[in-house]
Amino acid sequence: MIVSMQEKATEEQIFAVIEVMEESGVNVHRTTGATQTILAGVGPTAGLDLTKFEVLPGVLNVHRISSPYKLAGRAFRPEGTVVEFPNGATIGGKQVAVIAGPCAIENREQIFTIAACAKAAGAGFLRGGAFKPRSSPYAFQGLGIPGLQLMHEAAQANGLLTVSEVMEISQIEAMLPYTDCFQVGARNMQNFNLLRELGLIRKPVLLKRGIAATIEELLLSSEYIMSGGNYDVILCERGIRTYETATRNTMDIAAIPVVHMLSHLPIVGDPSHGTGRRDMVGSMAKAAVAAGADAILVEIHPNADKAVSDAAQTLFFDQFEKLMVELRVVAEAVGRTL
Ligand code: PEP
Ligand code: MN
Repeated sequence: MIVSMQEKATEEQIFAVIEVMEESGVNVHRTTGATQTILAGVGPTAGLDLTKFEVLPGVLNVHRISSPYKLAGRAFRPEGTVVEFPNGATIGGKQVAVIAGPCAIENREQIFTIAACAKAAGAGFLRGGAFKPRSSPYAFQGLGIPGLQLMHEAAQANGLLTVSEVMEISQIEAMLPYTDCFQVGARNMQNFNLLRELGLIRKPVLLKRGIAATIEELLLSSEYIMSGGNYDVILCERGIRTYETATRNTMDIAAIPVVHMLSHLPIVGDPSHGTGRRDMVGSMAKAAVAAGADAILVEIHPNADKAVSDAAQTLFFDQFEKLMVELRVVAEAVGRTL
């Protein structure tokens, strides 16, 4: 259930409503927006008489939520979520964020060169995998924490934030000091134990859509994180598996407006994994921004064709720089900045 408080509701009134909700056996998640406080009650609300809450002082209205996700639904934060990072960067606001970096952190020189390029072109986030989910167990599996330390150093030297994939619960603690945003990869979107654990930390989580997941399943997975109290979830459309073989995955651009309609969470477009081909990354990045993406995630590398993983979809620096110039124009055309 969602209890929307009146704009002028006092803290006292809000606490009183929370108390009655808790007495009724529901778990209360509070969000305080610019103008209004919303209280989401999660739990056995089916038999509750909602008028009991409607008559409380300060309450604007109360309704039941029919969708299976309660906290990820638009009604929890009608104005949308803006995820804020410690340096002031945001994902979900007017500015479209750019997350750029290699598929995998390979060595010191590689990640420092990439960080400098990402910064110069205007990106705010440096990405790179230290733990790589590879289809083959014999493929490069990543440098682990030492690699992440290198990326953190490179990011700090350039005033960037880091995004890196966490594959299992045991990696979270070791990653914390070097990671500003934890990525959950497509293959782990329904690793519910991992999601629950990420709900307990207080750092943003970038949750990628599973290879064969519906948008509803993606939102339900975000609910696992949010139900632990971590509301800083950023969704990511990275393409899904369909019968089409011309591209590595089929990038579902329509998922972007659908997510914005159903949820308050920001959504990132990932045209690198979405297409698997560097000649198409630019088109789909622009399409994603035009469709309302709150950020773009792109793989870049100085020797893109020799990258140890995802080489075919990785952009050379000059391609990335050109794309950034074009993205600025598209962003402006849809009322955003880059
Ligand atoms: C990645 O970002 O490099 C990655 C492995 O992504 P995905 O989980 O979308 O395949
Ligand atoms: Mn990759």
